[in-house]
Amino acid sequence: MANSKFEYVRQFEQPDNLLRETWIVVRIDGRGFHKLSDRYKFEKPNDRRALDLMNAAAVSVMKDLPDLIIAYGVSDEYSFVFHPNCDLFERRSAKLVTTIVSTFTASYVHQWATFFPDKPLELSNLPTFDGRAVQYPNARILRDYMSWRQVDCHINNLYNTTFWALVLKGGLSNVEAEKELSGTVSSDKNEILFSRFGINYNNEDEIYKKGSVVYRQYQLEDQSSTATATTQAPESQAPPTELSKTQQEKMRKLRRKAQVVVEHVDIIKDDFWQRRPWLLS
Ligand code: ATP
Ligand code: ATP
Ligand code: MG
Ligand code: MG
Ligand code: MG
Ligand code: MG
Repeated sequence: MANSKFEYVRQFEQPDNLLRETWIVVRIDGRGFHKLSDRYKFEKPNDRRALDLMNAAAVSVMKDLPDLIIAYGVSDEYSFVFHPNCDLFERRSAKLVTTIVSTFTASYVHQWATFFPDKPLELSNLPTFDGRAVQYPNARILRDYMSWRQVDCHINNLYNTTFWALVLKGGLSNVEAEKELSGTVSSDKNEILFSRFGINYNNEDEIYKKGSVVYRQYQLEDQSSTATATTQAPESQAPPTELSKTQQEKMRKLRRKAQVVVEHVDIIKDDFWQRRPWLLS
């Protein structure tokens, strides 16, 4: 680039490279989706089309960015996880966050009509997302982060399912339903659902209770329930933390070819991770 007397303004830019060797989670969240879900008449408590659209957009992001290991989504949010050895954009926070947010948003908007053919997007009510990057120093804390989001999914979904049963089936006003639920614990909500509406919460769809996990499927999962954390994937799929440029390129190719799957399963217990040892290796 040509030098000019204006060039010095570059010095005002601050470095924002994230720490090496840490797991990076970029969490995005729909902006004002409470209003947006009203505007486009999402079904309450859970609009399946809206969740499928979120998942379709997340799959686009995973396919576009082979550096991503796994993603977890619930409601209007999605968390995308980069491996500690990822060097994309030299780990610059703003670059990583804005690339994920805009790739996700572009895909979400592009695919909207497929999921909501009867509800064209209005220029004055376009879906947008914010995002942030957080670093976690080891796999244990990363897993605790993922567990935190899935517990949140469960707590919110149980509350919302009960709240909307009281409103839509019980004829209560929103304020009355809120009052009825204040101070209740999980077992109370399960009881309200079962005794008053004949709903067994356990039979609700897994996607609502567990959220959605998106990852690359390299090989048949280890089906044995005795799989342990020490189970190793083949060499090429269990990279050392420090990778040479050629190794990184090889990994990236492998990741690009792998199938991206969406599942609604427990990611809190060890089982999910033990059966897919390549995720945290
Ligand atoms: P903010 O901009 O602060 O994130 P928000 O209105 O998006 O505000 P959130 O806490 O992110 O608030 O909550 C998202 C809201 O969007 C939910 O509370 C719910 O009302 C609605 N929503 C999101 N996804 C769905 C869905 N699949 N079905 C029905 N409602 C949904
Ligand atoms: P990066 O992802 O690093 O930004 P890039 O390919 O987007 O890579 P930029 O430095 O941002 O590189 O340059 C954008 C390039 O896009 C320009 O060099 C030009 O080739 C092309 N481009 C952008 N806008 C136009 C336009 N209106 N007409 C023709 N070409 C354009
Ligand atoms: Mg928010
Ligand atoms: Mg939101
Ligand atoms: Mg949200
Ligand atoms: Mg550019």
